[in-house]
Amino acid sequence: MLDTSNNHPTPARRKSILVTGGAGFLGSHLCEKLLAQGHHVICVDNLLTGQQRNIDHLRSNIRFTFIEHDVRAPIDLNVEEIYNLACPASPIHYQNDPIKTVQTCVLGAINMLELAAKQGAKILQASTSEIYGDPQVHPQPEHYWGNVNPVGVRSCYDEGKRCAETLFFDYARQEALNIRVARIFNTYGPRMKEDDGRVVSNFIAQALRNHPLTVFGDGSQTRSFCYVDDLVDGLISLMDAPNDVPAVMNIGNPSEIDVHSLANEIIRQCNSRSKLVNKPLPQDDPVRRKPDIQRARRYLNWEPATNLSQGLERTVAHFKNEMLKCEQAS
Ligand code: NAD
Ligand code: UDP
Repeated sequence: MLDTSNNHPTPARRKSILVTGGAGFLGSHLCEKLLAQGHHVICVDNLLTGQQRNIDHLRSNIRFTFIEHDVRAPIDLNVEEIYNLACPASPIHYQNDPIKTVQTCVLGAINMLELAAKQGAKILQASTSEIYGDPQVHPQPEHYWGNVNPVGVRSCYDEGKRCAETLFFDYARQEALNIRVARIFNTYGPRMKEDDGRVVSNFIAQALRNHPLTVFGDGSQTRSFCYVDDLVDGLISLMDAPNDVPAVMNIGNPSEIDVHSLANEIIRQCNSRSKLVNKPLPQDDPVRRKPDIQRARRYLNWEPATNLSQGLERTVAHFKNEMLKCEQAS
């Protein structure tokens, strides 16, 4: 557990850092780590999919500020670095209001880039492996341009995130902004919401209740899952890297697993009596996904330190604890 108290050694240079989407799953872990490094952190979030309880434990820290705000509207703040994470990440949430998702990706990026330009701040975009779509190159290196359906149900997110990358590069070329683009691959860990809809949280919640695990399609599709602490370290390494490193970096765990095997591993870890049940495969669900992380290894000296079994163990423990709290409260 990170020490998030106010008593931290002052870092070499204490910075004022904005994290948009800071009350979400990844954002809350990022805020926690940046505070633990001794920085000032401003968390901006409209609480669409994020929750106050993710940041409750940070509130007593005098270096932490929460502002409830929608990034589709401009905001003026004194900051030196911006991590732009604001955007729903789970397919059920980003498809719930696709127009809003595109607006969040595009207007949110423009507003944060304008703020960076005004403040002379360095800015990092939380991009995604979804920009590769249903990839025809495997594993996916950063120079691959992807295979994205521009008019499907996932397009609001995939194309929104692609447009955000375009904006980042246009602001770098036209306004000389110092940009970073992290292409995040599937990440899991404590503070995923039980009703978030993503595969790891769904399967763990189902397994702990001995309910059937809902495998979409035949479960042969693959993903590569990164534990949240590794991901956060990767984001901070990219932000802190020298200016001559490539701006775009895959951040993920290259250990690939099919959804069927993931379900069985989670049943094992939960000591569950659950069975598997097959449900229809959602439209445009990518068949294979695995990051090529040679670039991050070479330029950031970063690679994941947590394997799936260790990460799932910590995530299952978190879910058990949350369920216990719910039972005690009811
Ligand atoms: P999340 O849904 O838990 O967090 C997103 C946060 O953004 C939430 O707190 C939400 O309330 C906030 N938000 C959404 N729209 C907003 C708006 N218009 N204005 C202000 N705040 C808004 O998701 P997450 O998994 O923490 O993802 C964080 C970021 O990382 C997202 O940009 C996502 O696209 C990216 N990403 C995540 C993953 C992953 O596996 N977790 C993979 C690829 C990319
Ligand atoms: N999935 C599944 N059962 C679920 C939720 C998801 O089989 O209850 C599958 C989904 O079809 C996809 C994979 O798990 O193939 C990862 O889904 P998730 O929504 O977590 O992430 P993404 O599709 O965005 O990579």
